[in-house]
Amino acid sequence: MLDTHQEREILDLYEIALLLNYERTSSEPRFRYTKLREVASHELDFQTLLINTPIWTAHKGPKDGFVFQRMEPAVIADSGSREVPDLPSNMLPQIVYPFARDITQLAPDRLETIYWQARGHDSCFKSVAILQHFFDLYTTDPFIRIRLADGKEYFSSPSTRSIIEYELLTVQRLTIAVVLPENKAYATGSADQPRFKHAVVVFESHSYNGGVQTVLDLASMQFGDTGRGPGHSGKGTLALESLDDYHNRLSSIAAGFRTTKISYHITPDPNEVNEAWMKKVAERAKERWENRDDHHWCGHCARPLANGPELKRCSACRDAYYCHREHQIKAWFSHHKRWCGKP
Ligand SMILES: [Zn+2]
Ligand SMILES: [Zn+2]
Repeated sequence: MLDTHQEREILDLYEIALLLNYERTSSEPRFRYTKLREVASHELDFQTLLINTPIWTAHKGPKDGFVFQRMEPAVIADSGSREVPDLPSNMLPQIVYPFARDITQLAPDRLETIYWQARGHDSCFKSVAILQHFFDLYTTDPFIRIRLADGKEYFSSPSTRSIIEYELLTVQRLTIAVVLPENKAYATGSADQPRFKHAVVVFESHSYNGGVQTVLDLASMQFGDTGRGPGHSGKGTLALESLDDYHNRLSSIAAGFRTTKISYHITPDPNEVNEAWMKKVAERAKERWENRDDHHWCGHCARPLANGPELKRCSACRDAYYCHREHQIKAWFSHHKRWCGKP
């Protein structure tokens, strides 16, 4: 029994989720090379741009509008041709747009939310498909180690996963992200989507504590800060939590919800997804996971970190790494608190 366990690879779901999300959002084709130009809300309407949709003006609830401008790709210095990833920290443009409200004053936390909220548009089926691609890269069914924020730990496997599809009835918050110059608008939660389709992956164990189910929603932040996890006061950029907690979350995102389908595998509409890009994202995450002992990443945002004296790590366990202190604090409250010092 033990021998077969040793042969099967162990994947840490929390770390894999961080890696997949970093690779997906930082290379998202629809928003690639874009910089934030303007931010609007229910209190402050768009200033420089007339959003050519009645959806924005008609929405009476909370709403966020973002305008992005596509730029020329930038290349990382001294890297040959490696392109700079799109990140919340480089989302502001170098230039100041005339007449636009000053967005340089936005706090890093707000920029992070905007980044995930815009790029999360229509991303739940994509992120589920990317996770499927990731699992398909393993020839033998690996163990999935699930470490929850409350300190619970159990093992599951990709072969016992299920994908739950929901219909959210009236998403409360409207998000519109416009990308210039093509003037494409991506809307989440508008009145013309009364039955909003959403999908998540559920992992389970029958042996742990009489049975347990954990939801992974990699695109939870398409709904804004309410999508931060785990739990209601989470600071993370994804949701990894119990099914009950997740259903509580859905109750605050939408006026109601129902489960429409439970399956093992989904196939996204090929007209809507970039299959080659999704596979690349899965491959990059696997490569980074396999190189984890040599190339570390931030425990909040999964940004790759350079080795050397500059490398910031948790002073207590020396086994968790961060790009800066704010991310260390966020990761502490959303996950590391119960895991610091544990193998
Ligand atoms: Zn970070
Ligand atoms: Zn630690």
